[in-house]
Amino acid sequence: MPVPRIILKTKRAQPFYARHPWVFAGLIDRVEGTPADGDEVDVFSSAENFIARGLFNSKSKIRVRLYCWEPNRELDRAFFHERLSSAIRFRDALGMRGPERGTRLVYSEADGLSGCVIDEYDRYLVMQVTALGIASRREMLADVLEELVAPAGICIRTEKGVSKLEGLDLRDGLLRGSEPPADLSIVENGLRFAVPLTVGQKTGYFLDQRDNRRIVAGYAKGRAVLDAFSYTGGFGLQCAAAGAMWVECVDSSAPALELARHNARINNLDNVALVKADVVKHLERCVAEGRTFGMVILDPPKFARSRSLIPDALKGYRRLLTLGVKLLQPDGILVMCCCSGLITFDMLEELHALVAVQERRAVQLLGRSGQPADHPVATACMETAYLKCLISRVP
Ligand code: SAH
Repeated sequence: MPVPRIILKTKRAQPFYARHPWVFAGLIDRVEGTPADGDEVDVFSSAENFIARGLFNSKSKIRVRLYCWEPNRELDRAFFHERLSSAIRFRDALGMRGPERGTRLVYSEADGLSGCVIDEYDRYLVMQVTALGIASRREMLADVLEELVAPAGICIRTEKGVSKLEGLDLRDGLLRGSEPPADLSIVENGLRFAVPLTVGQKTGYFLDQRDNRRIVAGYAKGRAVLDAFSYTGGFGLQCAAAGAMWVECVDSSAPALELARHNARINNLDNVALVKADVVKHLERCVAEGRTFGMVILDPPKFARSRSLIPDALKGYRRLLTLGVKLLQPDGILVMCCCSGLITFDMLEELHALVAVQERRAVQLLGRSGQPADHPVATACMETAYLKCLISRVP
């Protein structure tokens, strides 16, 4: 059976020669053959030059996800074995894996595996599937993972919104091996964190902030710290352990705060308060009550899900920054994180400048950092760059 062919419209091929993996439906001139969803297809320029092989999905706006730029190479078990082992070898080389460690083993497009994220917590893997072609190959991928990693268990996580966009009919749950124990935990920068692998947000924990938590904790000594959008206490507890005077964690999720309480207890940190509230409302209340802090950490969820939402998102970040600055004591430290890929460092720095003028405070940018090495950025797909952390001092 010949592999079905996708012929692009004229002048649409350039990004795909440059190895961007998403072929949107609107760029396609015609489909030759009758690929089923999840099938392999070859993508050609309008002059019918081969560009790459990918997986087809008629239900998604991303009609083809590209995986291989070598002609006549099948996207078979050997292919995925190569991709997965390359990604895992790299994390091994970083020395990031091992008992009680948390590591992103595979980061989707950044590792040439569009639609597939795999996080490893101790001996358990969570596979976050966001592409139909990956979902339909999950058993094969699990075989390869068992061969390469020999995990105690592999769980599937999906994201409701994304599943709808991809036409995915996949349920969360155990794919292989044993259920992760309810008290599964990892050690990060010397502190132990429970990982609610099957019920928590995303894959249970935000591994991407590992380096930023360490850097931020370096500023915490002696300060009263407000950790806004704390989830299970990632930033706040690192600050408490690094000598913060006390820490207040704020989140709207009661289960997340319950785990933050648990995490504080197992790390013998007794100067941590937990507040269940909407962050903006809580910050406004703190301002009204005249409370101040030596450090304010803001790590909100993604505000800008599409380009049209950028202006609203900027307003949201500006509101948070304004409240953060108002709450800072002289010489305070402000930490602003942003996981919206569409919002850039430059935009955030401009917001800092605006807020400084508006609040009549000087703001010194001390550092900016992004994603850790197990969340690499593919230059071919800059959508893989999303995390930003800006630390500043407000004298
Ligand atoms: N800082 C955390 C990760 C934050 S994820 C860490 O280091 O692990 C974003 C968090 O914001 C989630 O826990 C979510 O429950 C919370 N959240 C989202 N909207 C909120 C709101 N309006 N007020 C308070 N918390 C909110």
